[in-house]
Amino acid sequence: MFMFKRLIESGRADIHIDIFEKKNELGTGMPYSSDGANDEHITNVSGNEIPQLVTSIAEWIETTSPGKLNRFHITPDSYNDYKVLPRLVFGQYLSAQFDLLRKMADQAGIAYNVYYNSEVVDIIDHPDRKQTTVVIESGEHFNYDRVVICTGHRWPKTHEGTVSGYYDSPYPPAKLSFMVNHPVAVRGASLTAIDAIRTLTRANGQFITDADGKLTYELSPESAGFKVVMHSRNGLLPAIRFHLQDSHLSGNDTLTREEMTSYREAHDGFLSLDYIFEKNFKDAFRDKDPEFYARIKDMNMEEFVNSMMEMREDIEPFHLFRAEYIEAEKSIKRRQSVYWKEMLAILSFSMNYPAKYLPAEDMQRLQKTLMPLISIVIAFVPQSSCEQLLALHNAGVLDIVAVGDDSHVEPGEAGGAVYHYTDADGREYQTHFETYIDCVGQPHLSYQQLPYQSLVDNYTVSPARLRFQNAEVGEREKNDDNEHIQTDSTGNYYLKVPGIGINDNFQVLDNYGAYNPRIYMMAVPYIGGFNPDYSGLDFCEASSKAIIKVIFEND
Ligand SMILES: Cc1cc2nc3c(=O)[nH]c(=O)nc-3n(C[C@H](O)[C@H](O)[C@H](O)COP(=O)(O)OP(=O)(O)OC[C@H]3O[C@@H](n4cnc5c(N)ncnc54)[C@H](O)[C@@H]3O)c2cc1C
Repeated sequence: MFMFKRLIESGRADIHIDIFEKKNELGTGMPYSSDGANDEHITNVSGNEIPQLVTSIAEWIETTSPGKLNRFHITPDSYNDYKVLPRLVFGQYLSAQFDLLRKMADQAGIAYNVYYNSEVVDIIDHPDRKQTTVVIESGEHFNYDRVVICTGHRWPKTHEGTVSGYYDSPYPPAKLSFMVNHPVAVRGASLTAIDAIRTLTRANGQFITDADGKLTYELSPESAGFKVVMHSRNGLLPAIRFHLQDSHLSGNDTLTREEMTSYREAHDGFLSLDYIFEKNFKDAFRDKDPEFYARIKDMNMEEFVNSMMEMREDIEPFHLFRAEYIEAEKSIKRRQSVYWKEMLAILSFSMNYPAKYLPAEDMQRLQKTLMPLISIVIAFVPQSSCEQLLALHNAGVLDIVAVGDDSHVEPGEAGGAVYHYTDADGREYQTHFETYIDCVGQPHLSYQQLPYQSLVDNYTVSPARLRFQNAEVGEREKNDDNEHIQTDSTGNYYLKVPGIGINDNFQVLDNYGAYNPRIYMMAVPYIGGFNPDYSGLDFCEASSKAIIKVIFEND
């Protein structure tokens, strides 16, 4: 939708756009349709935080038929732009925005077709003809000058469907609306886990608000043995939505492309994680929060992450969750940000561009150290989800277990799964659960998992990889049997990261690192290596902006 909007705004009436959508509707995508949501699921951003489309959510609510909103108890009076929305309602809004964009295209005289129920099953590039062919499930072929892949989320199945009680993801969530009378294991403790918990707890009991407004949870008698056990690497719960000073996390004071380019020119083509951490994070506190700056100014990234993690690990997870809930409530009431968390979100988003220029050594530090903290702090759990989790924990229906780095899950012989992990005291566990749901979020898919075989077979795309600044480090890791290390004929060592290689304009790269001027990749599961924080509508907006800049080049 963001790409379509940019194409319309280009004012180029000499183009023709074809949209292929495997479903029979546009705009709702996966997260905001029944593929990714039931009534109980909500967005994690509010109206004021979403990038501009055509009309605002408030305007849409004013004009849409009340019948569509009654079920969700939403009226123009009850809505304000600081509220999160049921995801299915947000999907209706997005779909209505797509309709408005189509009208804008008609008015601008831009020709377009929408092919519904048309899954793209292959993409074949023809460099000789300077064209790319799109093949859909019916076998029809279509030729184009430019192809932008915006296929969004994908959740491959491993054991789901063959092992009973084993779920590779909680989506579509309708499949989890069942009654159970035993503990359910959930892998993960963040937003995806909360989606699963919201559905399971709705099916197995009810939330009750008492006269003082306190939320409690009561299990159905038939589900007396039901509870959810979340498993996470550090046993931590995610942080809670607070008031954002910069509601679009635009990071206006972060490094510019020019600054990063000149840094790279002086450093053998590399950016440095320490440089980005100093400039895009620490420096922001000098004026805005001098007290916090004084605390962190001498810390490197590892020291900062350790201090933040230790602070969190020292407190029982649900106590910390409650304390953060109170802090977030104050932040929202006073419209005052929790600045260090906001800056961490900005740092995370700002890593998307430079990640592909980091040396492999820094990417390993990023993956090992900073990303685990970021993934906890920037999840931004909505208040109502937080209230539900606390009520569930109080009712003895929700627990969290820290499982360490070496944990793994195997399908159970008689169904479900066995969770293998070692606790903080070194005790080993092998716990069988009749029901297991993998909730770690969108998996980073590999180059081989790209569903357009001709792109792989013809070497149009290549696996994403980063060069080691110090070849000896790469060599050492290769000798230690690190399967992610590659070499080339010139003695360079590389770290393979998930997905395919793309350049700054999201054009796919071949094995020689040459970009393809026709094919653009915006689908998040395939670019996770070079875009570690690829979540959300803000990313859709930013990536479509980069693409539109070059799409008409050399026309
Ligand atoms: C459960 C969940 C909740 C989320 N909640 C939020 C949130 O609250 N706020 C936020 O900012 N972000 C959220 N996100 C992040 C999400 O990435 C973006 O908000 C946004 O949906 C991404 O849009 P997209 O078009 O890339 O992908 P999608 O929304 O997944 O849309 C992809 C579209 O492509 C179609 N398609 C897929 N494959 C093919 C094919 N081969 N051929 C033809 N059509 C195809 C699909 O049917 C779908 O319509 C959430 C993500 C998930 C998974």
